[in-house]
Order: sequence, then C-alpha cells, then structure tokens
Amino acid sequence: MVSDNVYVSNTTTLAKYMKLEQKGKVLAEYIWIDGSNGLRNKTKTLNKKPSSIDDLPEWNFDGSSTGQAPGDNSDVYIRPVAMYPDPIRLGDNVLVMCETWDPDGTPNKYNYRHDAARLMDANSQHDIWFGLEQEYTLLGPDGYPYGWPKNGFPAPQGPYYCGVGTNRVFCRDLVEAHHKACMYAGIEISGTNAEVMPAQWEYQVGPCEGINLGDQLWVSRWLLHRIAEEFGVVVTFQPKPMPGDWNGTGLHTNVSTKEMREDGGMKHIEAAMNKLDGRHLDHMKVYGEGNEQRMTGAHETSSMDKFSWGVANRGSSVRIPRQCAKEGKGYFEDRRPASNGDPYQITGIIVETMFGAVTP
Ligand code: ADP
Ligand code: MN
Ligand code: MN
Ligand code: MN
Ligand code: MN
Repeated sequence: MVSDNVYVSNTTTLAKYMKLEQKGKVLAEYIWIDGSNGLRNKTKTLNKKPSSIDDLPEWNFDGSSTGQAPGDNSDVYIRPVAMYPDPIRLGDNVLVMCETWDPDGTPNKYNYRHDAARLMDANSQHDIWFGLEQEYTLLGPDGYPYGWPKNGFPAPQGPYYCGVGTNRVFCRDLVEAHHKACMYAGIEISGTNAEVMPAQWEYQVGPCEGINLGDQLWVSRWLLHRIAEEFGVVVTFQPKPMPGDWNGTGLHTNVSTKEMREDGGMKHIEAAMNKLDGRHLDHMKVYGEGNEQRMTGAHETSSMDKFSWGVANRGSSVRIPRQCAKEGKGYFEDRRPASNGDPYQITGIIVETMFGAVTP
C-alpha cells in the first residue's frame, strides 16, 4: 500500500546503531505544542540520567519557525513538566513533555497547559478524573485513507468497527506497536479498538487525574506520529477526513469528580449538566477546529448549536452510561470534542464550567 516515493525507516540497519553504548549519557526528547495545535520535538544529550523533572534543564527553540514568536524576538523557552521512559530509544532515555514560555516570563500564547494546570490545582479536592477516547485516521502517503482501493471506496460502514480480518482492519501492526509503546512509557492507555470507518482507530487514555490526562494524551499522540514514520503511514486527527457517509473522528471526554463517584453521585452529575448547558457555545469554541463538519447530528453526533444529554444516548452532547444511571453514580461522557481538540483546553473548560474560573 506504500507508494515508491515514500521513505520508510530502515529498521534493520537502524537497530545496529540503536544498540551502541551511550557512554553514560542520556537522550531526552523534548516535546512541545506549536502554534497550530501540532507537535514539535528536539533531542538533548544529558550527562546523566535524570531522576526527576528538576534534573531536566529549561531549553529554547526558534519560535518564528513554529508560528509561536516574531522573527525579531524569536526565542521561546521550553520548560519540562512531565517525563516518561522512551519506548523508542529504550535504556535510560526519556521523553519530556514541555510548556512553552516567552522571554518576558509569561506563558506563550499557545501554552494552554498553564491555565489548565491552575484550574486543576485549584480544584484538586474534587479528585477530578478524565478518560479520553482518542480517535484518528491512518492515511497512505498519498493522503488517501490507508488500505482504501485507489480511485474508489471500500464497502459501506458496518463490518469495520471492532473488526478483524483482511479488508476489515487496516494497519493493525502500527496500532499494536503504539499500544505497547504507550504502556512502556507509562501512559495509562486503557484500550484500543478499530472504528466505524475503515482505517479509523481509537485508543483510550485514562482515567487520569487532573493535568496528567493532558500530558499523557499529548505524549501518546506524539508516539503515534513518531511510530507511524516507521510504517510510512500518515496519522490525521482531522474531525471529518472523508465527506459523505463516513464517520467523523472524535475525542469523547469522560469526566468524574470524587462526589460523582460516591453513592448518590448522580445529583452531582445532573448539576454538572446544568452548568454545561449554560456554556455550550464556549465549549464548542475549544472542542476542535473543523468540528462543524463532524457534528452534523448524524453518525452518532449531536447538533452543533444545542446542548443535550441523556442516558445511553449516543446522539446527545453528553451521554450518561447506562450502568452509571443504574448505580446512581459514576461519570459522564462529553461526546462533543473533535479528535484534534487540545486536551488541556477541553479538560480545562470543563473544570472551569463546573467549579468556576480561577483568578489570575
Ligand atoms: P465508549 O463506550 O464510549 O466507547 P470507552 O470504553 O472507549 O467507552 O471509553 C471509556 C473511557 O472512560 C475510558 O477511557 C475510561 O478510562 C474512562 N472512564 C471510566 N471510568 C471513568 C471515571 N469514573 N471517570 C472518568 N473517566 C472514566
Ligand atoms: Mn540553529
Ligand atoms: Mn470508545
Ligand atoms: Mn469511538
Ligand atoms: Mn465514547
């Protein structure tokens, strides 16, 4: 399925070099979010194994090349906020999630983590858990869904969701590699499944408390892109990669507080529904670009402009799982976010809507 002009990693030759001694030094892959909701990274050699985030130096990059700073004042600082074992380089090497900061000591315009972390901090007594269902689509190097017949379409949707077998699932090897890599890195990946549209997949991260969800989800996305390089496949988080009768791609966001998980928690879930109802449009603004193409009211989505919620209803903005309604406690699923939404902004606004803004 891979066309001639695509470069696929020469994994066999590379393996020889990956085994070479590092002479006590460690590679840290610094990862940050750029000016267009994309990921960037660069490698730092450290003289010794970092035992915590505090051992990782602040660094910088050219923000004028990432849409994050003007050319005449281009330095943007990257501050490590979370560290994970590196499933690609192995050994003591690490992946490092970073926040972006401007030279004047304020968060970069695209540093959405900063405010989200403050909201999580201010409400830590609620032990807020998030579990996100990250859907995505795999494309061949030609930009067409991976495995789809050239100049044509696969058979209509139906057999693909949680499917098995050739012509039902596409590129499972990449999906398997990603799941294992996330586990190695300590990402709390809770599952994987093939989705409704062929070449569309999902994995879930969580439940994770507070800001950890955003950190882990961004690193899991980075790993997906990084591993896809080795397979010569393109990962897209576009909300509606194929027009017509093909499912869009979402980022269902499952949420609970300590109070919701306790007996009688349903009244706290209902209170949250009232709050969410009042801020529907504010939420939609940060729930992903191009989401209007996905949220047509068809294909298991709700209306773009009106909030609704219901038990076991996959056509409403928020679904209360049947089991939770039965037990009278648990969590809710916000089905509105698109696959390309920023988990920091999504989890941030949910907390803000439930518990109020934090003062600067
Ligand atoms: P769906 O039926 O919508 O496809 P999934 O099984 O794909 O559901 O995803 C459910 C998600 O909900 C998982 O990521 C899981 O971690 C998360 N989750 C489960 N319980 C809770 C909870 N109490 N609070 C927050 N998230 C939760
Ligand atoms: Mn340079
Ligand atoms: Mn799911
Ligand atoms: Mn799904
Ligand atoms: Mn879901």
